[in-house]
Amino acid sequence: MELDLPVFDKLAIIGCGLIGSSVARGARASGAVRTIAIHDASPAARETIARLGLADQVTDTAADAVQDADLVIFATPVRAIGEAARACAGAMKAGAVISDVGSVKAAVSEALLAACPPGVHVVPGHPIAGTEQSGPEAGFAELFHRRWIILTPQDRQDDAYLEAVQRLADFWSALGAQVERMDEKHHDLVLAVTSHLPHLIAYNIVGTAADMEEVTRAEVMKYSAGGFRDFTRIAASDPTMWRDIFLTNKDAVLEILGRFTEDLQALSRAIRWGEGDKLHDLFSRTREIRRGVIEAGQESAEPDFGRKRGA
Ligand code: NAP
Repeated sequence: MELDLPVFDKLAIIGCGLIGSSVARGARASGAVRTIAIHDASPAARETIARLGLADQVTDTAADAVQDADLVIFATPVRAIGEAARACAGAMKAGAVISDVGSVKAAVSEALLAACPPGVHVVPGHPIAGTEQSGPEAGFAELFHRRWIILTPQDRQDDAYLEAVQRLADFWSALGAQVERMDEKHHDLVLAVTSHLPHLIAYNIVGTAADMEEVTRAEVMKYSAGGFRDFTRIAASDPTMWRDIFLTNKDAVLEILGRFTEDLQALSRAIRWGEGDKLHDLFSRTREIRRGVIEAGQESAEPDFGRKRGA
C-alpha cells in the first residue's frame, strides 16, 4: 500500500537511546516526518544526538521538544515514562498522537493516560526489535525493518481516535515495521513468555555460572560455545531497562515463571528416573518450534541485520 508521506509534521522523541535514536533515524530516512525534536535527560546523550545530527532540534526539556509536535514518542526506560509524560503534558498540542516504545504495556498505558491531558490521543506501542546495546550511537534506521510493532490502543471507537491509531500504524509502516494491534494485558502475557522469561533465565544462568567457585571464570569464557555464549549476549542487556520490565510486568512474569518452574521440575524428574522418551519427545517438539520461528522470519541471526533481537 502506498503511504502518504510525511505521515506527521513534527515528531518529538523523549529519551533517545538505542530505540529512540533508531526511531529518529528511521523517520528521517523514510520521510515519515518533516521535522524531529529530541529531548534526553542525559546531557552526554544530548551532546551525542546533536553531534550525530539525529534531530532538527535537541532540547534541554521535554516540554520544549513536544511543543507543536503531532507525534510524541516516549522511549525512556519503562518506569520513567509516566514521569517524563507528566513533565511535558502541559506543552502537548491538542490532537497530538502520544505513544511510546516500552516493553510493558498495561502499566505504561495507565501511566500515560494518567499524565496526558484530555484532547490528545494516547496510543501505546512496542516494537519487537532491539539489541543488547544502549545509547544513541547504537541505533540504526533499519532496526524495525520486517519486525513487528504491537500497538495497544484504548477501547475507543470515535473517529478522531481511530484515525490517530491508523496514522501511528502508517508511521511505523513507513519505518519498515509490520503492525499488529493487541489488548495490553495479552501483550504483557505474550511478551512474558517470548522475551521477559528468556531474559530472566539468561540473567540467572550467567549469574549462577559466575558464582560457581569450582568452575573458574577463565573456563566459563573458554568453553562458552557450549550454549552459554548465547545466554551471555542476552544477559548483557541494559540493567535499568530490564529491572523496570520485571517490576512493571510482575504479575505476568510470575505467572509464567510458575509454569516454567513446574515444567523444569518435570524435566528434572525425567532425568533422575532415566525417562529418555520424555526428554526425546520434548526436544523433538522444541525443534519444530525453532523451525516455525525461522519460517516466520523472526530468526535473530538474519544475514543482513545480525544484531537484531526483540525485547
Ligand atoms: P537506552 O538505550 O538506555 O535509552 C534510554 C534513554 O532514555 C537514555 O539516554 C536515558 O538517559 C533516557 N532517559 C531516562 N529517563 C528519562 C527521562 N525521564 N526523560 C528523558 N530521557 C530519559 O534504552 P533503550 O534500549 O533505547 O530502551 C528504551 C525503551 O525501549 C524502554 O522502555 C524499553 O523497554 C524499550 N524497548 C527496548 C528494546 C531493546 O532491545 N533495547 C526493544 C524494544 C523496546 P540516562 O542514560 O541518563 O538514564
